Amino acid sequence: MPQDPFRRATRIAAVELSEIIQVSEAAAALKRAGRDVISLGTGEPDFPTPPHVVAAAHEAALRGETTYTPTAGTPALRTAIAAACERENGYRPEPAEVIVSTGAKQVIFNAFFATLDAGDEVILAAPYWTSYPDMVAVCGGTSVVVPTDAATGFKLTPDALAAAITGRTRWVLLNSPGNPSGAVYAPAELEALAEVLRGAPHVGIIADEIYQHICYVPFASFRTVAPDLAGRMLIVNGVSKSYAMTGWRIGWGIGPRRLIEAMAAAQGQATSGASSVGQAAALAAISGDQQLLAERNDDFRDRRDMVQSALNATGLIRCASAEGAFYLFPDCTATFGKTAPDGAVIDCDADFTAALLSAEGVALVPGRAFGLPGHFRLSYAYARASLAEACTRIARFCQSLT
Ligand code: PMP
Repeated sequence: MPQDPFRRATRIAAVELSEIIQVSEAAAALKRAGRDVISLGTGEPDFPTPPHVVAAAHEAALRGETTYTPTAGTPALRTAIAAACERENGYRPEPAEVIVSTGAKQVIFNAFFATLDAGDEVILAAPYWTSYPDMVAVCGGTSVVVPTDAATGFKLTPDALAAAITGRTRWVLLNSPGNPSGAVYAPAELEALAEVLRGAPHVGIIADEIYQHICYVPFASFRTVAPDLAGRMLIVNGVSKSYAMTGWRIGWGIGPRRLIEAMAAAQGQATSGASSVGQAAALAAISGDQQLLAERNDDFRDRRDMVQSALNATGLIRCASAEGAFYLFPDCTATFGKTAPDGAVIDCDADFTAALLSAEGVALVPGRAFGLPGHFRLSYAYARASLAEACTRIARFCQSLT
């Protein structure tokens, strides 16, 4: 028998379609069948890209900025990122310590791809963004998942971090504000983690700060709190969430030159430099008027308050406070053992989200997709009317359980 030419390589075999995408597809199928579905499953801002940003991209294209760019990003954007970093976080990297990639996702992928060998470990706190363990797997590494809970605000504690570090640890990944928990690490919490990491000089640190500007408490960058660890830290950020630019695909990493060069080598063989017009747009976003960030932040905070109190009022869903990003990660374990009107018994978070979708047409993502069952993720980056209607339906669903 000839072998299948399209058999999956080992490195990709374990990677399944993300459960977030599965949920949006299930919701889309119900919609096509004529059901009125509210999907709060995906995580992107519902604001438009600011008009001056769109105009800057248009002008760049008309000026002929439509050719290949340097692999690690245009000099103008790398310099503007350094300046924005100084303005916002109080340190100024050299442009050579900055790499621009096709989204923050590619920054993290590059870091893993450029550094992980078989058996190398990456410490992830659950709940985590679903792509982290998949990227580690694709790059041949091993995820070491440390569960957290609402009692610690879904944050990694110094003891749990210390216990997870082994001789094979290459990276610990921290995400603040966090997807899906909305957790934000306070400076003292980062400092306590930094203290553990000072005792583990073989461990690199990835701080994914993509939600920096969607934060309802003062934001602290890990690098600002622990500048002495900058030599083994990669800061990840970008325009996708802050400036409502998910489709433009521009993110960046800030780290030691040796790491940035290795990541650029990886990127050079995968995608080359990021989109030229995307980089022109990102330059306008981070260099222009920043007032909109505060306005949008206030708007997200109002929506969080509204949804959080409505969910807690159901009595069955416990929704801990989230201090940033645009997600809530409530506990639904009080519904376990109950029966939905159609006879479905709820035994786990995925049963809860499936029964809710079927009964009320509200799509949410089960916590198991983020490595922490017993919860679900709700994105509140949707119109207030949809959020209010979704909350009404969730409350009705909870009341209908017997
Ligand atoms: N990190 C986290 C925590 C995210 O939630 C996302 C987007 N879902 C990304 C990184 C990737 O962002 P980008 O669109 O810039 O690739």
